[in-house]
Amino acid sequence: MLTSPVRNSTAEWQALDRAHHLHPFTDSTALNREGVRIITKAEGVHLWDSEGRRLIDGMAGLWCVNVGYGRKELAEAAYRQMVELPYYNTFFKTATPPSIELSRLLVELTPEGLNHVFYAGSGSEANDTIVRMVRHFWNLMGRPSKKTIISRTLGYHGSTMASASLGGMPAMHAQADLPLPGFVHIMPPYWYGLGGDMEPEDFGLLAARKLEEKILELGPEQVAAFIAEPVMGAGGVIIPPQSYFPEIQRICRQYDVLLIADEVICGFGRTGRWFGSEHFDIRPDFMTLAKGITSGYLPLSAVMVGDRVAEALMSGGEFAHGFTYSGHPVACAVALENIRILKEEGIIARVAAETGPYLQNRLRELEDHPLVGEVRGVGFIAAIELVKDKKRREFFDPIGEVGLICRDHCFANGVVMRATRDTMLLSPPLIMSRGEIDELVEAAKKCLDLTARDVARR
Ligand SMILES: *Cc1c(COP(=O)(O)O)cnc(C)c1O
Repeated sequence: MLTSPVRNSTAEWQALDRAHHLHPFTDSTALNREGVRIITKAEGVHLWDSEGRRLIDGMAGLWCVNVGYGRKELAEAAYRQMVELPYYNTFFKTATPPSIELSRLLVELTPEGLNHVFYAGSGSEANDTIVRMVRHFWNLMGRPSKKTIISRTLGYHGSTMASASLGGMPAMHAQADLPLPGFVHIMPPYWYGLGGDMEPEDFGLLAARKLEEKILELGPEQVAAFIAEPVMGAGGVIIPPQSYFPEIQRICRQYDVLLIADEVICGFGRTGRWFGSEHFDIRPDFMTLAKGITSGYLPLSAVMVGDRVAEALMSGGEFAHGFTYSGHPVACAVALENIRILKEEGIIARVAAETGPYLQNRLRELEDHPLVGEVRGVGFIAAIELVKDKKRREFFDPIGEVGLICRDHCFANGVVMRATRDTMLLSPPLIMSRGEIDELVEAAKKCLDLTARDVARR
């Protein structure tokens, strides 16, 4: 069997990487000073690097490897489909069995009223597709002025021009002259950072009503849609107070604004339900699915389209949009097998009833740590917010350095956590056992101690 060419040493790989490989969301100068870390294999919830060091993966890759690494069933599903039919498109009145089967299954799994699926290759493409559908829909309705889409600061919806415009990441906007016209942002329901002295539920209402204020400011006949992640992921695992989404939903209905739930992280069990929308009782017009749909084994995304929009699209002539890999049969076959595993092994039910609460309880122990301002989370997604002064809820200045220090300690000590600002993020594979959760939390605690030591020395 051919594996990665072992004759290359880590230093050789690093030199080649430095010479030719540009990395996403990476400061190349900083990377090239240290050399890239090369991950060579993985099994269950663990990764191994080219030096043979084992790491526990607290991030499920990038929020996606929900069933864990090394699932042969997924490789076999891909193999079988590749032998049978490796590729065919879904343009021009054709389809393939896996793309049809998966459509039926996704409709069955997602909340009521979402009965049609459009496929793409990534979360970004799926959100771009939604922007295209939203604009086309309002044109078909004879209300072409309804074009502006409202989203949230700190939201993450992808990296293409439209999806980065939907997102609310200042650095992304600054580098690409974004957002494009027609995309505006309101504050996120980030109680710990923005709530001040307010009770969380009062703050949730206040944050939701920013949507109403923005709609009234722009005029309801200008506003096409509102997009939100049920739990904001890359922006810092921001969990809205329970008051937030019911109010958002009321406002969207009142002003006839389409509601888009970006479930790219929350979908497929992350919060202990199949979808984050269930957790917050959201009834969206669109749902964006990616990441956990294949547990990251192959790229695939899907747009779930609500009945109102689907009916208009289907009677609206040709929808002039699509991707070569829309409904890719191998990716769809892997998604079908991935969903079978999630269902038959009761993985999501276990996260809801047992391992999710266990993880959250164990992480709450870290709230006693001098660096930790807040631990928040639900199911298998969590944030550990590091602060300068926990009593006064004072953040570090400049923000972001301490998070990076902690992230480096994590890698050096065999655990993967991600840092957003000074918040450490966790999103482990959903199959993580209690024993492995203990391993993760102990490693996290050690890294917090090392970070606190460095902070004290500065
Ligand atoms: C990752 C992510 C995306 C973008 O998905 P890509 O596959 O990286 O394009 C969109 N929305 C959310 C919420 C995400 O976390």
